[in-house]
Amino acid sequence: MKLSSRVAKIKPSETLAISAKVNALRAQGRDIIDFAAGEPDFDTPVHIKRAAIKAIEAGFTKYTPVSGTNELKDAVAEKLRRDNDLEYKRSQIVVSCGAKHTLYNLAQVLFDHGDEVIIPAPYWVSYPDIVALAGGHSVIVDTQEKDGFKMKPEQLKSAITKHTKAVIINSPSNPAGAAYTPEELKAIAAVLLDKDILIISDDIYEKIYYAEFPFTNIAACEPKLKDRIIVVNGISKTYAMTGWRIGYAAGPEEIAAAMNKIQSQNTSNPTSIAQKAAVEALCGDQKIVDKMVSEFRKRKDYIVHALEQIPRVKCFSPEGAFYVFPNVSEIYGRSYKDRKIISSTELIDYLLDEANVAAVPGVAFGSDDHIRLSYATSMKNIEEGIKRIKDAVSKLEG
Ligand code: PMP
Ligand code: GLU
Repeated sequence: MKLSSRVAKIKPSETLAISAKVNALRAQGRDIIDFAAGEPDFDTPVHIKRAAIKAIEAGFTKYTPVSGTNELKDAVAEKLRRDNDLEYKRSQIVVSCGAKHTLYNLAQVLFDHGDEVIIPAPYWVSYPDIVALAGGHSVIVDTQEKDGFKMKPEQLKSAITKHTKAVIINSPSNPAGAAYTPEELKAIAAVLLDKDILIISDDIYEKIYYAEFPFTNIAACEPKLKDRIIVVNGISKTYAMTGWRIGYAAGPEEIAAAMNKIQSQNTSNPTSIAQKAAVEALCGDQKIVDKMVSEFRKRKDYIVHALEQIPRVKCFSPEGAFYVFPNVSEIYGRSYKDRKIISSTELIDYLLDEANVAAVPGVAFGSDDHIRLSYATSMKNIEEGIKRIKDAVSKLEG
């Protein structure tokens, strides 16, 4: 069968593919420690679940306006005011089925063939494919570990061409957990001030944050750019609600209207019940977030230290999100039996086969020197998983 050329242009999501593989291996009885899944292991808080149950019982089970209910848009506007010092009207907000869907809609309304989108690497797996699906071209800017995996203003400047349409900023980032300081964002903004370039600010890990300096959105750092910034956020990570599929964008009215149009021809509205739950998440008790974050912080401190104890592994200490992105390149060239490890993919396959540990190869995020481990799993699993990795790595010789 001849499928569209569009499908041939992209890869399946590697993170989701590995999670599916873990599930299949577990179904066969394999005892896998899963560091691959990029989702909180906590349950969705009870008061949020109750809001959804109440919505079902009240019959709130029909179509809603395509871009979300006014109630949820008001909750999003209030969140952006309260947490980010940003003002948006309802007409500037679009709620979609997860931030991934938000980014997909955005790419569809912004990019045409030949448009370039600057993406700092390491990047979240889906950015380049979402850009490619829209016909755009990703321009990857390799950040350095010594720069905290953050794009320098000079790097941004030299990546800009007359075709540059947008730049994606993801802070704290997936996979490195890098967070930009307000000063660094100001310096990035300064490069963009006199350019006709849009900025997509993916703030999905905003609340899972450990840095000493405060989280800031680039629009709050440089208000002169606000008309060219689209803030993307969602409830998946902050409130342990990955399955509910609610994300949102806030930005220029013209872009929001175009996203509404695109969404009206694909999913229509996001799920009515999930929208009610999202209102409760955004407006209800926020202390539950602190609880989850303090647990993530403990795990982060443990896993960074434990990885550093493994010979030939170096681990950047993340400032946010729930991933570590250790540099494993010094392991490359070593072998176990007739298996030689020379890339992140081979190391990940080896760890799965020999240690029953799943993680994601760094190459999926644009850096083959690293692997990504999600510590959104219990401390017990982390301790056991790291022990298995250490044993497997120590068997490699050469
Ligand atoms: N952005 C980043 C950086 C992510 O890691 C994710 C996780 N899937 C998303 C966006 C999308 O999240 P969701 O679709 O669950 O809202
Ligand atoms: N964002 C998560 C990850 O990076 C969830 C899976 C996905 O959508 O990529 O693992």
